Amino acid sequence: MISDFHIHSIYSDGELLPAEIAERYRVNGFDAIAITDHIDFSNLNVIEKLKKLKKEIDTPEFIVGAELTFTPPQKINKLAKKARNHGAEIIVMHGESPVEPVPKGTNIAAIESEQIDILAHPGYITDEMAIKAREKNVYLEITSRCGHCYTNGHVAKKATQHNAPLIINSDSHQLKDLLTPKKAKKVGLGAGLPEKQIEKIINKNPKKILKKTK
Ligand SMILES: [Zn+2]
Ligand SMILES: [Zn+2]
Repeated sequence: MISDFHIHSIYSDGELLPAEIAERYRVNGFDAIAITDHIDFSNLNVIEKLKKLKKEIDTPEFIVGAELTFTPPQKINKLAKKARNHGAEIIVMHGESPVEPVPKGTNIAAIESEQIDILAHPGYITDEMAIKAREKNVYLEITSRCGHCYTNGHVAKKATQHNAPLIINSDSHQLKDLLTPKKAKKVGLGAGLPEKQIEKIINKNPKKILKKTK
């Protein structure tokens, strides 16, 4: 199974409609995608729009997602629960990227909330974060997104050291960002991951994430 579980559409700051994203990923040979538009307390209705579309899409498997973004760490749990109630199947947390002023404490609060499936672009994660991510089964993201990807090598190293689960996503905002199987593999290799581990991350981890969210 090949997936991309971090994609933005016109419902936040992306350029494409979710239906076009789905069709292009079908053509690229993907099995499952999640549209994860930026969410705060003001726009949970985006999730409902995606639910409407989900009913009409056969392949790839269309997952209704949300990326909680710039949430005060003490409010992450509350917002995640609201997103679930609105129908989010996969919840991504906008982590402490090296290139954005994401509130300090976001990573650890997200891992501990037990509501977050994927911690996106977690930046300079610590040993403690990687250990907790393994304990709580939170997937740490290796990203093809420019800027966020500066710390891919660091994230891969810490995750491998502490056996925390990894996932490769695009964080696409535009047509040129969409993943292909080849690009996903390249991103993994660029992060310094061995080929065998990349195969597992690409083929097995998406299934595990879907299992945990169902
Ligand atoms: Zn993000
Ligand atoms: Zn994003």
